[in-house]
Order: sequence, then C-alpha cells, then structure tokens
Amino acid sequence: MLTAITGINWGDEGKGRMVDLLSANYDIVVRYQGGNNAGHTVVNEKGRFILNLMPSGILRDGVVNVLGNGMVIDIKHLVGEIERLRAGGITITPENLKISDRAVICMPYHVSQDILEEERLAEKKFGSTRRGIAPVYADKYFKKGIRMGDLFELESLKSRLADIVEWKNLTLSKGYGAQAVSAEEMYAHIVEYGTQLLPFICDTGAYLDKAAEEGKNIMFEAQLGALRDVDFGIYPFTSSSNTIAAYAPIGAGIPNRKLDNVIGIMKAYSSCVGEGPFTCELFGEAADKLREAGSEYGAATGRPRRVGGFDVVASRYGIRVQGADFIALTKLDILSYMEKIPICVAYEVDGVRTQEFPIGAKLDRAKPVYEYLDGWMRDISGCRKLSDLPENARKYVEFIEKSVGCPIKYISVGAEREQYIEV
Ligand code: GDP
Repeated sequence: MLTAITGINWGDEGKGRMVDLLSANYDIVVRYQGGNNAGHTVVNEKGRFILNLMPSGILRDGVVNVLGNGMVIDIKHLVGEIERLRAGGITITPENLKISDRAVICMPYHVSQDILEEERLAEKKFGSTRRGIAPVYADKYFKKGIRMGDLFELESLKSRLADIVEWKNLTLSKGYGAQAVSAEEMYAHIVEYGTQLLPFICDTGAYLDKAAEEGKNIMFEAQLGALRDVDFGIYPFTSSSNTIAAYAPIGAGIPNRKLDNVIGIMKAYSSCVGEGPFTCELFGEAADKLREAGSEYGAATGRPRRVGGFDVVASRYGIRVQGADFIALTKLDILSYMEKIPICVAYEVDGVRTQEFPIGAKLDRAKPVYEYLDGWMRDISGCRKLSDLPENARKYVEFIEKSVGCPIKYISVGAEREQYIEV
C-alpha cells in the first residue's frame, strides 16, 4: 500500500508525530521534497527528537527510511543529524537509511546566497529560513546542481564544480559584492561530508519500485503543508518545492506508481511561520495565549509563529489540492483553555463573503469572518475514545468535519505516541 501523509495547512501541523504513530504499519517511510528548512518534532519512548532531513520512521526499529530524489540535501547538516540521532540511541545503517543518488546537494554557497538575498530585501524579506533552499532548487532547474550520485565520481565532479563555482561567483561576488567562493574549499567540503554518506546512496527509485511490487507498505512523508506548495500555495510566500501528495511518487523516484491513499494532517487551530498572507491571524493577548499554549515556535529556527483560529477556507482548499481521503486532526488539547473558540468560517474579499481560497493581492485583502463555539475548559489529554471527549469538544470536531467536507479519522490530544483517538 502506498500512502502519503501530508499537511493541509501552512506546515507545522504535527505531521512528524502522526507519521511516527502511523509508521508502525509501514515498512518504508520516504521524504520526497524539501530539505532541512523545516523540522519535525517527535516525542516517543526513546526521547524527544528534532528531525530536519530524516524521515520520521528513523525512530522505529525495522523501518527503512528513504531520502528521495525530490529532496535537496545539506550534507554537513545530514552528517550532524545522523550523529545526533546515534548519540540518542538510534541505529542508522545502510539497511535502514537510503539516500537517492538523484537528490541535489545544498552547498554552503546556497546558504550564503539565501542570507545575502534576505539581507538585501531587508524590510521586504520573505522570511526565508536561510538554509539555502530557494537557491539550491533554483540551481536544480538551472541545471547547475550537484547530485548525491556525483559523489561516486569525484574526478568529474571536481571539474564540474569548478565551472559551477565560477558561475556562482558572478552572483555572489560580482552581484552582491560578497566574498567569492573558492572551488577548492567547496571540493574539500564535499569530500569531508559527502564521503561519509556514500554507503547510504543508491538508486532509491529502483529500490522503492521493487518494494512496491513486493507489496510492501510505503509511506510518503511531506514536509510543510499544502499552502506552502510552490504551485498551489500562497506564492511567493511558499517553499520552493511541491509539498502536495501528487508529487510524492515523482519526488520518491517511482512516477510509474499511484498512491492508494492520502492522509491529511490538519491542526485544530492555525499557525504560520514567516511572512505572507494569513487571513485568520489573531493578534494581541488572544494570539499570545494560543502561541504559548501550543508552543508555536519554529522547530528549525525557534521563531515565534503567527497563530489564528481554525481556518475553514484555507483548510478546504488544502484538502482539495492534497486530494486527502481522510484527516488526522492534531493538537485539539491545546484549545482546552478557551471559553469561546474562534473559527474562521469564511473570508470577505472586497465586501463579498466567500469560501473560495483567493490568490495574490486578493488574498492579501481578504478579511476573516469569525464565529465562536463554546469551549470545554477541561483537560482532554487522557481521552482515548470519542465518547471520552467532553460534548463541546465533540461538537467542535463535528463542526470542523462538516465545514471542510472530509472525514476526520484520528484526533490527537497530546504529543506522546499514545495520546490519540481513533474515530
Ligand atoms: P510538524 O513539522 O508538522 O511535525 O510540526 P511541528 O514540528 O510543529 O510539531 C508539532 C509540535 O506539536 C511538536 O512539538 C509535537 O510534539 C507537538 N504535538 C503534535 N501533536 C500534538 C497534540 O495533539 N497535542 C500536543 N499538545 N502537542 C502535539
């Protein structure tokens, strides 16, 4: 069975935690896009782990983890992540970690370029995570990328790298006026970190195709939500990759295969890290309380996230572009302190009420239409069945389910592995 597990909102929906829970039934977990620009936080019996590049299945014994060709990989970061996980008692070998030979390497000059551009933009900045992701994806499509498989052919890599560095310096030193990058240093970087990863690099598409043929259960794990997809998200405040489920077979290396189902992870309220339109945003004390309650600070950057009530318009749209078959609703317990729970049920654009998600300047002008449901004001983190939930919590879940038009199959009421309800 091929299942994608994807975010319905702006990211940070608690996907890592759901993948950790659901990966019990899967043989393989695959990351198919993005790099180390976001972080999953997973808490289980082994401890608390932040995963930037690694699929969440790495925390389960016996699960094979794949970094697909759709990813961009900072090799120094990956080596560090492997070391940190090993120090936490996690076993990582070529048996349980496989890296695509077609994934593109995120180089130090991509990080520099990212930072230089954010600094140039100053007040107009996009809120990049400064991990080099936009420059490395741009270079991939510019056909100036270096791929993981190139690490096996160091001689030819060395001469290609020299050409690429010469080209990159046109931007870095001649364009931004920054210090030029040295081809020798970049080669030394690749040799130092890349060679440590060689045992893990292979044709992961061939591996996954064979595994699918054998009937293995494969889970595709997205980073960031639907609204960060470069085609369908809040462009240009998106990530640089396709986060949607439809891209999973491509970014994993098995474009010949179809997904059997798509699980959408949707948070019981909204959060958005960085700049860009966020119609349902709350401000002041209401925002501070929700941010504190939900610990809404970036896992990769520590940045405070913007927060809002559940957004019906954005979530309905997210469900559509993901093609979600059902929903796992996360962090319901966070709302337990609220007397009245705000839900953004529609947008108002130029005086017209709508439930269609707008784009561009129209989205910038959209105003939220808020309704309020009664809260339950009780700790629900111990609930394990739907009937354990207070009536108002059930009503809240039913309201959301009806508004977005997609069945909610799981409700998570805490960060621990067992703190969830199967509906
Ligand atoms: P991800 O990138 O989508 O995995 O999202 P985050 O890194 O923001 O993870 C969500 C955070 O919320 C992590 O610290 C999780 O441990 C935590 N979390 C996930 N689900 C729940 C939940 O249902 N309740 C609570 N209280 N915390 C949760």
